[in-house]
Amino acid sequence: MSDLDQLQHFIGGEPVAPDSGEYFESTNPANRETLYQAARGNAADVQRAVAAARTAFENPRWRDLSQTRRGRLLRRLGDLIGENAEELARMEVLDNGKLLREMRGQLATVPEYYYYYAGLADKIHGDVVPASDRRVLNYTLREPLGVVGAITPWNSPLTLTTSKLAPALAVGNTVVVKPSEHTSRTALRLAELALEAGFPAGVVNVVTGFGAEAGQALVDHPDLAKISFTGSTATGARIAAATARRFIGSTLELGGKSPNIVFADADVANAAMGVVAGIFAAAGQTCIAGSRVFAQRAVYDELLERVTERARTIRIGDPLDADTELGPLAFEDQRDKVAGYVDLGRSEGARVVTGGQVSDGGLGGYFYEPTILVDVHNDMRVVREEIFGPVVAIMPFDTEDEVVRLANDTDYGLAAGVWTTNLARAHRMASRLDAGTVWVNTYRAMSPMSPRQGFKSSGVGIEHGTETVKEYTRLKSVWINT
Ligand code: NAD
Repeated sequence: MSDLDQLQHFIGGEPVAPDSGEYFESTNPANRETLYQAARGNAADVQRAVAAARTAFENPRWRDLSQTRRGRLLRRLGDLIGENAEELARMEVLDNGKLLREMRGQLATVPEYYYYYAGLADKIHGDVVPASDRRVLNYTLREPLGVVGAITPWNSPLTLTTSKLAPALAVGNTVVVKPSEHTSRTALRLAELALEAGFPAGVVNVVTGFGAEAGQALVDHPDLAKISFTGSTATGARIAAATARRFIGSTLELGGKSPNIVFADADVANAAMGVVAGIFAAAGQTCIAGSRVFAQRAVYDELLERVTERARTIRIGDPLDADTELGPLAFEDQRDKVAGYVDLGRSEGARVVTGGQVSDGGLGGYFYEPTILVDVHNDMRVVREEIFGPVVAIMPFDTEDEVVRLANDTDYGLAAGVWTTNLARAHRMASRLDAGTVWVNTYRAMSPMSPRQGFKSSGVGIEHGTETVKEYTRLKSVWINT
């Protein structure tokens, strides 16, 4: 018997041991130390969690709770996350290797998402619809869906769970969360905090485990009203097919290969910083990573030099250390996948300007050097496929029309960056780029108020902002003949 912490599922307001009695280990990618064991969920565990969520959905304590009170609970949950931010940030650093500095920054914004949806909770209502006959009253009711399944990846577990949980709860659903098998801990802590905030037992449930077991069982559960998923495009496609067969909705936030475009009229020093932050933050493990950089020919050499100089001085090391600038990849396979892509790039003819090597970060972990590839073009797999690591391809372009064509020549459509001092060009590019988010002279800006949608293979549906309410409700039309 191991003396590691054994984390249980969180179902119906309490820890629940796995039906199989089996646990799996979670490892710190910075030093390969085993951190804890988590319950290995299966279909029986999912059945139990969905039943608890269904019971909670029908319970008058939740169903009949006033919208004002629901808002208050969300506000309290936001407060509790704020009070526990340091603990939560450290948990995620150990689980996925992100920098403590980055996680503290992220955790500082998480409560705002709960406050935003708390403010929205009592503003959700149907409408009176004009009828042609004055004796008829026709109105709409905006109703919750029921039990929502939330499946999340490992790169920003708490933030991405929040993007689903806050709006789903604000409109009165109950939720079963299946976090990534690499990062089980914060979702479980979040469910405990929801209970402490006053959400009735069963409103927030968590089943830990692997995608092919617990995740698949959740997607296939007949009582589920919706799946909200963030993860890879390949898994998203499977979920889209499964939910379509059952005529239930899905919100899918998927992968990206975002262009970051630097025009000759840009402040190049500033743009270089934006390019570095766009790709090397979180060691490139962000869906919005600016992994394809296009620099107009007149500033190509200067931009490449500036980005290379910075990449060479990025300090790799312990993510808990305040001086570290690049942490590890989240697990061994991810490190190997990144290394494999760079080798593939070399074999396709790309030149590695800097980086291109695995590293143990001096700690025995799964690190990879910040890497810049040049002599690349749009037909290469390293330019077309999501690498999800600290690897950027930098390419020259001549004209605005050419770069629009190159930037849009991708299966993805998540985000894009534009660096220019020409205001007319900024607006033109914003409208011509095929991406759900366009940043001009900035990169990564995000807010609970701003809708986020992936175009093309980057997703279906909207997260954040008021539009999200529609993702988690259904509209009923009522006719009363007076
Ligand atoms: P993944 O698709 O491998 O896994 C995501 C989640 O799905 C995990 O919880 C996993 O256990 C589960 N899962 C896997 N197979 C499943 C199945 N058959 N049925 C149900 N669930 C299943 O993705 P990942 O490697 O964890 O995350 C990285 C990906 O997430 C990248 O592609 C990244 O771009 C994407 N991402 C997108 C956004 C966004 O907002 N668009 C944000 C963050 C990450």
